[in-house]
Amino acid sequence: MYAAAAWAPASKKIGAQKLLNSVQRGFAQKLCKSYRTVSLHSALTLAGILPLDLRIQEAAALYETKRGSPLPELGDRETESRVGFAETPHPASHTDIRFECLEDQRQVDRHNVQEVRIFTDGSKIEGKVGAALSIWKGESEIRNQKFCLSAYCTVYQAELLAICKATGGVLKGKEKSYGLYSDSRAALETVANHSSLHPLAVESRENLRKAFIQGKDVSLFWIKAHAGLPGNERADDLAKEAALASKRKHDYDRCPISYAKNLIRSRSILLWNDRYKSGETAAVTKLFFPSAGDAYRLIRKIKPAGLLTQVLTGHGGFSQYLHRFKCRESPSCDCDPEKEQTIIHLLTECPVHDKARYDFSQRTKEIVKLDNLHELIANIFLDDFKNLEKM
Ligand SMILES: [Zn+2]
Repeated sequence: MYAAAAWAPASKKIGAQKLLNSVQRGFAQKLCKSYRTVSLHSALTLAGILPLDLRIQEAAALYETKRGSPLPELGDRETESRVGFAETPHPASHTDIRFECLEDQRQVDRHNVQEVRIFTDGSKIEGKVGAALSIWKGESEIRNQKFCLSAYCTVYQAELLAICKATGGVLKGKEKSYGLYSDSRAALETVANHSSLHPLAVESRENLRKAFIQGKDVSLFWIKAHAGLPGNERADDLAKEAALASKRKHDYDRCPISYAKNLIRSRSILLWNDRYKSGETAAVTKLFFPSAGDAYRLIRKIKPAGLLTQVLTGHGGFSQYLHRFKCRESPSCDCDPEKEQTIIHLLTECPVHDKARYDFSQRTKEIVKLDNLHELIANIFLDDFKNLEKM
């Protein structure tokens, strides 16, 4: 997908798609360990991957989005693009930014020597995002600030926004020494890392640089979250309040790249689903997964291989299949010479497996029928797999 943005339009041509498909079919078959006769659509579905041409278009769309072109799904909201390298301060003017890690109240007390301490936090609650500052002098809070972010923002963005606003506060403050506290190590590391081009980190560093020039002493600290530290608990409560308060205007609404990525992925899944549904192949797989979109979400938890792949494709050691490829004389099942032994026959009606079906129904309160195979896959398998994870 190197430089996909330059050549992605070519992947829309039918000829190119056919070539890509023939490359990908073999890989997909190996991934789900299927027979070599399995169709591209079945193999892709069970391998949990998207067609190559759609992946190429995804890579191109993501590149364009990172460069600032708008995503139709986002309307007029902007994505959070990185700051251009030329717009960042010259490396010679970099100030060394470090943070210390404080695990408990004792360590916090030992480092409590600044005039002003600013506790920052970000929080996501009930799908809403907020950030807050709690500003302390001595042992009590003198002021606080709350910020509201768009619902699609991440906690990481909220933590960074809080640190950024705190550095802004330091710049305006009259006191000489400040301690900034955050419980997000990732956010602090981004701020301390001069090569990070996150817009909030760049702004924070710029604020800190100016504060150093003003002769202010600023120390950064990471403190353990939920360790009962009063400043951190207070900032946490304020951030939650900020998230839940229904404000009309958001203080920060840049859409994170991760969210744009998800939007682009959903778009590809829709396209893939149309192709899967209108395709003539994968008849057996479609009984289990009528929608390629649902299959894409489920398959990661099921990870079919071996016998399960044989069942989900109908290509396996079944008489009807073996007869089709001239590996067995008759397509009929052991139970009745008139019945073809297909996977559907074995699963839903073959008397040889009555006992297994009965046991299954006893255990799951579900009946194995042709028209509920897709529900069984979605519900029963997921439960089974969840139980496995617990064990
Ligand atoms: Zn039978």
